[in-house]
Amino acid sequence: MPGKVRSHINQNEPLLFERSSPGKKGYQLPELDVPAVDAAAALGAANTREEIEDFPEVSEVEVIRHFSRLSTWNYGIDLGLFPLGSCTMKYNPRVNELVARTEGLAWAHPYQPAEVAQGAMEVMAQLESALAEITGMDAVTLEPAAGAHGELTGVLMIRALLESRGNPRKKVIIPDSAHGTNPATAAIAGYGVANLKSNDKGVIDLEALSRIANEDIAALMVTNPNTLGVFEEEIAKVTGLMHSRGALVYMDGANMNALVGITRPGDFGIDVMHLNLHKTFSTPHGGGGPGAGAVAVKSHMEPFLPAPRLTRVNGMWNWNWDRPRSIGKVRAFYGNFGVALAYIMAHGAPGLRQATLDALLNANYIRKGLEPYYDLPYQSPSMHECVFSDERQAKLGVRTMDIAKRLIDYGFHPYTVAFPLIVHGALMIEPTETEGKQELDLFIEAMASIAKEVETDPQFVLKAPYDTRTSRVDEVTAARKPILRWKREAAVSQAAD
Ligand SMILES: *Cc1c(COP(=O)(O)O)cnc(C)c1O
Repeated sequence: MPGKVRSHINQNEPLLFERSSPGKKGYQLPELDVPAVDAAAALGAANTREEIEDFPEVSEVEVIRHFSRLSTWNYGIDLGLFPLGSCTMKYNPRVNELVARTEGLAWAHPYQPAEVAQGAMEVMAQLESALAEITGMDAVTLEPAAGAHGELTGVLMIRALLESRGNPRKKVIIPDSAHGTNPATAAIAGYGVANLKSNDKGVIDLEALSRIANEDIAALMVTNPNTLGVFEEEIAKVTGLMHSRGALVYMDGANMNALVGITRPGDFGIDVMHLNLHKTFSTPHGGGGPGAGAVAVKSHMEPFLPAPRLTRVNGMWNWNWDRPRSIGKVRAFYGNFGVALAYIMAHGAPGLRQATLDALLNANYIRKGLEPYYDLPYQSPSMHECVFSDERQAKLGVRTMDIAKRLIDYGFHPYTVAFPLIVHGALMIEPTETEGKQELDLFIEAMASIAKEVETDPQFVLKAPYDTRTSRVDEVTAARKPILRWKREAAVSQAAD
């Protein structure tokens, strides 16, 4: 059996609740040498309880081993390649985290008055101006919590700007190569969605766009490079066309890892865009957080940015709430802004550009390496990711999900499965710049080896993974009826099933 994943000696780690037995404890205290206090009398009966039902009783060594074992069950970027397309799972150099953990940043309190938060505010201001320069935009807010939240912020600003011109309009055009969050954002901002079919190169068809860009259209939301990893080469014509129809252009900038240091959205006519600091700028992401979106705008949209805005008065940073046209606050407090600035400053302009070039090189290295084994539906040049389809393997009954499951046995996190939707049975692969040639070669070998397994023994691949603690789980039931909390009755009734 190939691969880096090894079964642990203890395949089925029980929950601490299940390991519990009465009277075990993880501590030893000396005899009480002061008068005992009646807790209920001191704190009030409502604030105390005799017993916590089903509280696990375990020893110290059991607790340590339990959590240490669980910590080895996870796959992370520190273990190996994480080729999840669209997610930009790059390795975050430790020094960025060290810098971001500086006491003044790590311990800053959101209610700290501006006079004692000058350092943190200076970091935010510097990050805003670095991001404005990188994107070619005029102003940046760090308020949104993540990419999708940035989209919502941006589209609400588009609505506010159009309203100020007298008509918010009705629909947003979204190409079929867009990220799924885009139509969701448009709908939440109160717009209908007008779908735009890509041409056979996988990019926007200017004529088709021109046909639907009427006076009902508020904006185009474009992901560039799009989710096929293809750069929209006609983007300047696209933005020109939309502006000539009185509409705006939102760019989903989650794929900026392909553009930083090479081209700037502000230079090709984008009005408003978001950045995923937790993708392009190395801020850690995972487990649903902590994300950090940033929204960048051209000057005509600046008045609508969320309040408050950083402002410097007499050499001191302050918050300016006097923003009558602002869409308002979109989040209570600021999230992680330290890592991104550390990353940008550690690289400098030449380093950021090199990172982009390395990301493109790595994606194209994988594309070339896998082309003999997997179908590549769009031949347009790849930027930072490449999208294959399972067409060849599907003829033998093996689909993209099965290949991804088998990849786990080879010690890699799966690629993105069945997305983007315009590729039937997609395998979307993004290596990022942080991988070296050795790791990329191992990945290509693994994928090639799986393609051969599919030809010789498809049934074998269909039952993968073999080298993990659980194999195929019932994903539909897991999503529809999740059991998020251990309860004795549930455990008993499951055991009886
Ligand atoms: C990740 C991603 C998003 C959403 O960003 P979140 O931070 O996950 O909300 C939107 N668009 C694209 C293209 C993405 O890759």
